[in-house]
Amino acid sequence: MADKIKLEVVTPERVVANEYVEFVVAPGVEGEIGILPFHAPLITSLDIGILRYTVEGRTEKIALTGGFLEVKGNKVVVLANAAERGEEIDVERAQRALERARERLTKRTPDIDVLRAELAMRRALNRLKAAGKM
Ligand code: ATP
Repeated sequence: MADKIKLEVVTPERVVANEYVEFVVAPGVEGEIGILPFHAPLITSLDIGILRYTVEGRTEKIALTGGFLEVKGNKVVVLANAAERGEEIDVERAQRALERARERLTKRTPDIDVLRAELAMRRALNRLKAAGKM
């Protein structure tokens, strides 16, 4: 395992990933963060975005809706609000969420919470991207 780093991705509901990987790229709030084995200790907030990791020639994608990342002792721990592997994503649900958010942002009636609709749109677009639909 000398060439790998442990990756754990957890949400309030479940463990989404728990394995030894070679490289992680995470959506930090200030930009993407690349993490190789034996990275220096780090704590950062995560944005809505895609976490990618490679192991034995395959690359996996996990859609994240924000959270926190800690690197410590050759281990990356991601605490996410919500996280789905690309193949777990319900594409139709994400398309419906995108449509709802677009409609709200187009109408912009006074009762619309614009920031909330923008965040919903970003989550939906991110899920479609992680599912390979964009
Ligand atoms: P929706 O309006 O469709 O609920 P949302 O962006 O408001 O979307 P979240 O609040 O981010 O949803 O997530 C709530 C729960 O639903 C989480 O457990 C998340 O993993 C899951 N989830 C949301 N959208 C999808 C999807 N398209 N495919 C699979 N799981 C999803």
